[in-house]
Amino acid sequence: MGTPLTGRTALVTGGARGIGAAIVRRLHADGAHVAITDVLEADGQALAAQLGERARFFAHDVTDDGAWRDVVEATLAAFGRLDVLVNNAGIYEAGTIEEADLAGVERQFRVNQFGTFLGMRHALAPMRAAGGGSIVNISSIAGQLGLAGSGAYVGTKWAVRGMTKTAAVEFAPDHIRVNSVHPGYIETPMLGGVDPEALKAGVEATPLKRIGKPEDIAAAVAYLAGPDASFVTGAELTVDGGWIL
Ligand code: NAP
Repeated sequence: MGTPLTGRTALVTGGARGIGAAIVRRLHADGAHVAITDVLEADGQALAAQLGERARFFAHDVTDDGAWRDVVEATLAAFGRLDVLVNNAGIYEAGTIEEADLAGVERQFRVNQFGTFLGMRHALAPMRAAGGGSIVNISSIAGQLGLAGSGAYVGTKWAVRGMTKTAAVEFAPDHIRVNSVHPGYIETPMLGGVDPEALKAGVEATPLKRIGKPEDIAAAVAYLAGPDASFVTGAELTVDGGWIL
């Protein structure tokens, strides 16, 4: 593995644990300076301390416009530029359209959809100043099909996919690429909220017959973030062991 991101700075939301932490580790190993942001402060601080000099943690709620301004400013103050944004923070709450708790529906809209929208908006100016960049939005296979019992989550992940393609067109004149990654079931704390029967059925329906690892998603993000993907924008990269084929 080379270090294709040497001299670049990446900001990863929800980077304290799960898929986000794997993305942080991978981009850091690829040479990037990494701003880790999350509402989980202790885990985020610990990860930054472990990685050392090229990593910083900033407390950050992605639903807060002012907090976005602050973390982008702090990232620029720490590392001088922003080249890569990974909108990874996300929450999942089960519930049918008929019965889902409305506060939970709104929470998912705000974190998964509005948070991603704000991230892209706030990354634009610093990436333009850097002469270009790469934004990777973490959607889900739930952004590519319908899933009974997950209507609000599915809605937010389709929204991420649609906003990604729109931003790809709007940001292209500034040499900013925007792509989405669509994980299948991945081994993280989020799976605790998924019905075990649905999980079992998902693995059975997966041609590669396993649950994914956070590192599987980190590898896809590293590709889209780096120079090998220089002609790739508006794409959706599904990483699900073949489940939705
Ligand atoms: P995770 O382990 O729950 O990690 C998500 C992180 O985001 C947590 O640290 C979480 O903190 C944080 N977060 C939640 N709300 C936030 C907010 N408002 N602002 C900033 N950070 C916030 O989940 P994961 O499985 O790694 O998921 C990462 C992404 O992959 C999500 O977008 C998810 O939808 C997507 N995804 C996951 C799977 C899967 O099977 N795991 C499949 C498809 C897509 P708290 O713990 O305090 O909430």
